[in-house]
Amino acid sequence: MGMNITIIGSGYVGLTAGVGFAYFGNTVICTDIDVEKIAKLSQGICPIYETGLETLLKKNLEQGRISFTADTTTAVKDADIVFFAVNTPEGEYGKANLTYLLDAAKTVSALCKPETLFINKSTAPVGTSEKIREMIRQARGAHDFFIASNPEFLKEGTAVADFLVPDRVVVGADDPAAEKRLRALYAPLIENGVPFIVTSIPTAELIKYASNAMLALRISFINEIADFCELVGADVSVVAHAIGLDKRIGPHFLRAGIGYGGSCFGKDVKALTVSGEERGYEFKIIKALSTVNDLRYRIVIAKLTKHLPSLKDASIAVLGLAFKPMTDDVRNAPSLRIVHELLDLGAHIAAYDPIACEAFKRSFSRSSEIKFSHTMYDAARNADALVFLTAWDEFKTIDFSEAKKVMKGTLIVDGMNIFERNAVESQRFTYEGIGR
Ligand code: NAD
Repeated sequence: MGMNITIIGSGYVGLTAGVGFAYFGNTVICTDIDVEKIAKLSQGICPIYETGLETLLKKNLEQGRISFTADTTTAVKDADIVFFAVNTPEGEYGKANLTYLLDAAKTVSALCKPETLFINKSTAPVGTSEKIREMIRQARGAHDFFIASNPEFLKEGTAVADFLVPDRVVVGADDPAAEKRLRALYAPLIENGVPFIVTSIPTAELIKYASNAMLALRISFINEIADFCELVGADVSVVAHAIGLDKRIGPHFLRAGIGYGGSCFGKDVKALTVSGEERGYEFKIIKALSTVNDLRYRIVIAKLTKHLPSLKDASIAVLGLAFKPMTDDVRNAPSLRIVHELLDLGAHIAAYDPIACEAFKRSFSRSSEIKFSHTMYDAARNADALVFLTAWDEFKTIDFSEAKKVMKGTLIVDGMNIFERNAVESQRFTYEGIGR
């Protein structure tokens, strides 16, 4: 039998989880402090680009399984489970900013019925669930509720599929009643054979950070190998393919490029490092990731200046603004820093992204200095160089001879190793990839 679920925070994670839990047959209410977002969602309009999300949202709305409100009191009063899925951005000195999360916990704590299960889905350092427990206990003046941690591992771009068919579900619970309710909630997945890991709350909280740190590590690792490849005339794509065939290593997350971006890896790596420092522990390898990645954007500038005498008044077509394909998310996207740097150096920028131009315009303070184009060929017009920053499928089918007709120069900087060198050079372009 379905449960009453309330989700606090209707962003990438909260909305996907809400739609997913509704699809499993629960009655879901999603809330947010962003009233505009709630108004859109109530009409079945998805504020983010995420494959399949709007279709599932509309279906659940039609079936009356999901609703949206900015009124927290109405949202939580009948909830069996309250999920926190609010943002936990990078705060001062790299520490996780828990303001939104603790505010949300504080707001709902006294409004819920007894025996409510409060679950933190936001990524937050070990000990945060305990903080939430203490805050709610104080507000209620009683310990008549349960706490659990249920970190989220979905990937933007494939969020719905990841939520409905995850690699695993991790649950941190220290009360059998909480565990039982979580098992019932995830029963559709457990029955499908999805591994369901029940552990202590601190272990669950740490699994999320360890997971993101590992993924960031693989990217930074292959980027270091890529830089060395350039010095010794090796090809990082072949290195990555060959090492990935070793079953102990595996093929994923070994694509050399311009560094990781997005709303999670950067801040989570830093938050884990600070969590260590707070306990007198130095994460030596994990700490180095931020240093390596923060400088990565410079590789694109170096590749351009290797061939163009000056970037002052050079015309650069930037193709790809999203931090990765299949999303319009530009939070911490390498494109933000690279375009900023190019503008500082006096370059003229024409930019194109299949879907992220609007998000980029909203996030980038100097958008008025950029010409946004409707096609990649339009962006390429009169360009001295094409710079690829996101590995969109659309770019893979570019007709280089068409691009050449409209371009001024012949330089291709392939920041995500989308193309084969020979294919580009055979069209009489100068090719600069990463580590090859
Ligand atoms: P987001 O910024 O897309 O959404 C967060 C939402 O919470 C926003 O709409 C915001 O308005 C709302 N909010 C903030 N304070 C609130 C409050 N007090 N009450 C109600 N709503 C409130 O963030 P996201 O990308 O969905 O990430 C949420 C959490 O999940 C973060 O901790 C993140 O690290 C983690 N996470 C994100 C991803 C991802 O790919 N985006 C994946 C796994 C985990």
